[in-house]
Amino acid sequence: ADFTVLCCGGGNAAQVATGLFAVRYKTIAVSFYSDEAAKWKAALGEDDFELTIPGGKVMKSKPHDITNDPSVAAQADVILLVVPSFAHGEYFEKFAPYMKPGTIVATMPARSGGDILFNTKLGDKAKDMIFCGFETLPWACRFTEWGRKATILGTKNNILAAVTPISATKMALGKLQGLLGVNPWIQESPNNLGISLRNPGMIVHPGVMYGRWGPESWDGKPKSESPLFYQGVDEFSAKILMEMTDEVQAVCREAEKLVAGLDLKDACTLKQWYLDCYDGQMSDTSSLMRCMNTNAAYDGLKHPCKEVDGAFMPDLNYRYLAEDVPTGLCFAKGLAEIIGIPTPTVDKVVVWAQGCIGLEIMVDGKMTGKDLDKTRAPQGMGITTLAEFLKQSKISAA
Ligand code: NAD
Repeated sequence: ADFTVLCCGGGNAAQVATGLFAVRYKTIAVSFYSDEAAKWKAALGEDDFELTIPGGKVMKSKPHDITNDPSVAAQADVILLVVPSFAHGEYFEKFAPYMKPGTIVATMPARSGGDILFNTKLGDKAKDMIFCGFETLPWACRFTEWGRKATILGTKNNILAAVTPISATKMALGKLQGLLGVNPWIQESPNNLGISLRNPGMIVHPGVMYGRWGPESWDGKPKSESPLFYQGVDEFSAKILMEMTDEVQAVCREAEKLVAGLDLKDACTLKQWYLDCYDGQMSDTSSLMRCMNTNAAYDGLKHPCKEVDGAFMPDLNYRYLAEDVPTGLCFAKGLAEIIGIPTPTVDKVVVWAQGCIGLEIMVDGKMTGKDLDKTRAPQGMGITTLAEFLKQSKISAA
């Protein structure tokens, strides 16, 4: 049978990935979101999808189908999820009954704990499947005409990915590299726990939001303009970010101590992540704050705000909190609790953020809120001990 790839989602990233893969492979676009698949199919009609790549070349292709029918998973060799992470669980669940053994399921970006979510959603079936977590999306991209045309503005040179089970790494990353083309170069990361704890968005987004709009710095009054997000990081926000990243580092060191042979080298500090990913684009790398303030890639990016009577109020339900807290920070916090590492600053941010996004996650300093199952906290997936955590991560305590 033809090599078949499912491309899941219907936003910028999913449309771009569908257009790219369909040039060479049988590509089926799948969206379970509302009536998005039918709308996309109607928008494209009999025409080719047009993808403009850096340099201006236009690639034309046609997806084999655009559907909301999960049974197409039975045909899939590779399933790629290119949707915001809060939607991953729905795709895992709906595809599970149909997937054939050996299917590679990749998430880009993975955020945190996607491997464990996958294993818990698939149950017994998970042992025959291969999960791959990518640290980020390799393209900066936008659709230009919804459902019909899209543009890749830039492609990353390198991207980290980890495979569960680890034994399938070479095979899975080889196939995924073939799918993506020569760029980005997929770099093998030792395990998905490293990808989960590396997740820079779980620190940067909630941390900068807290620093600007949290109870320690904001009087609740509207601003005359939306503040700059990265360039506007001040000493106070930087202190919050440093404390959060240090707390996650303490979790990493304790995990390495408890699990012999566990390699979390890719779960670096936030500053190291900037040095790795934005080398040459920051005019001052003397501190984390200056890395963020002087990063050309972030020029002019503002806080998510809503205009009210000519003034600006923060959008505290934006995905910087609504996505990055549940599928990022909650994972790290949950693991910290399991292995007994105190995380006072992360706690402070989670407690503030849960009010903003209308979830109950922490109660009296513990991960026991009623909405834990809406997060990637291990506790929300029924995991409260290190042994169970390792089992569901398929990491053996060597
Ligand atoms: P997007 O906002 O365009 O994605 C929207 C899509 O998400 C929708 O079309 C739908 O398919 C799905 N969706 C939205 N709400 C949903 C819901 N309630 N239930 C189920 N599905 C829902 O996002 P994108 O630009 O395609 O990015 C995808 C991911 O990649 C995000 O996590 C984003 O942060 C990340 N990312 C994007 C870029 C980029 O350049 N576009 C760059 C880096 C990272």
